[in-house]
Amino acid sequence: MRLKRKIYVTSTYLPPKEEFLRYVDAFYASRQLTNLGPLQTELEEKLGARLGVEEPLCVGNATLGLMLALRALDLTEGEIITTPFSYVATLSSILWERCTPVFADIRADSLTLDPALLQKALSPRTRAILPVHVFGYACAVDEIDAFAAGHGLKVIYDAAHALGAKLRGRSLLTYGDVSVSSMHATKLLHTAEGGLIWAGAAATRRRLELLRRCGHNYDEYYEPGINAKLSEPHAALGLACLRHLDEILAARKNLCAQYDRLLGNLVGRPAPPPDMEHNYAYYPVIFRDETQLKRVCKALNASGVYPRRYFFPSLNTLPYLPVRQPCPTSEDVATRIACLPLFPDLLAEEVDAICALIRENL
Ligand SMILES: *Cc1c(COP(=O)(O)O)cnc(C)c1O
Repeated sequence: MRLKRKIYVTSTYLPPKEEFLRYVDAFYASRQLTNLGPLQTELEEKLGARLGVEEPLCVGNATLGLMLALRALDLTEGEIITTPFSYVATLSSILWERCTPVFADIRADSLTLDPALLQKALSPRTRAILPVHVFGYACAVDEIDAFAAGHGLKVIYDAAHALGAKLRGRSLLTYGDVSVSSMHATKLLHTAEGGLIWAGAAATRRRLELLRRCGHNYDEYYEPGINAKLSEPHAALGLACLRHLDEILAARKNLCAQYDRLLGNLVGRPAPPPDMEHNYAYYPVIFRDETQLKRVCKALNASGVYPRRYFFPSLNTLPYLPVRQPCPTSEDVATRIACLPLFPDLLAEEVDAICALIRENL
């Protein structure tokens, strides 16, 4: 089966150019390209209203958002319990803030941090928990939040994959003390580079707002901050994409349903909690073992299809970590999971071809 074009795991969504250019006209007229300009403010308001997230803050990217979240909650030392199954930015933000990551392994069904392992990961130095709504699947938020409350810990959710997802009708971006989502070009809604932070407490939100603009407001200096602002050209792209969020979600949902139909239970699939509305951010499949994964990927690559081994390797095995903390479930899943191509303009016939190749090479 030959495909007419190369197909990567994702292809960045681009809004109609005229719509983007209308927002470009706005910053050509204002000459304000950054410093919390009108487009950035409009994007925050529209995202807040569309997603049901109160007063979200845009930042330059989600990695900066995680760093600011740690700062805003005074997490500048001590241990932070986190998941080994994520993108490296989850871990590196902890290390960058000079905190010590302690890994709690994941559940084999949802691939999110297993709350039953929190007790074992707890120590007198534990300050916070940083779980990930991986692939947009909700963490066990009730158990995690209850454990945190019982031990005086903060909770920061890495919600980089969770924009548009809901748990019991409520945006996944509104759980924990602070929640950080990503608007990177590879994510389902993007500003090329960008992040979105939500904080439950008004005081934390105000602190985050100051920290993203070097800790000052005109001539009033409050504390050392960094430059984590979202620029107007980035916000322009986000505003143009946001108009199409419903279409983006609907197209992804259809493609996922097609994958489900064609692959059935020939491959493993993570199981999100039943009471959530998914955002179809990724289509991860879990193979029997690494040999099967490699065989399928090789066949797909030979036909110009490039799924991505995601997440691999398990973060607890990274070479620069000083001590090796075993996480058998994450390490096992990481060796045999891959995300299949998923983006709004992927064609139904391309999904057919991809699934045929997978079935022939299992
Ligand atoms: C993409 C991603 C990030 C980082 O987002 P950026 O906006 O690229 O900094 C953090 N965590 C996870 C799980 C991600 O997938």
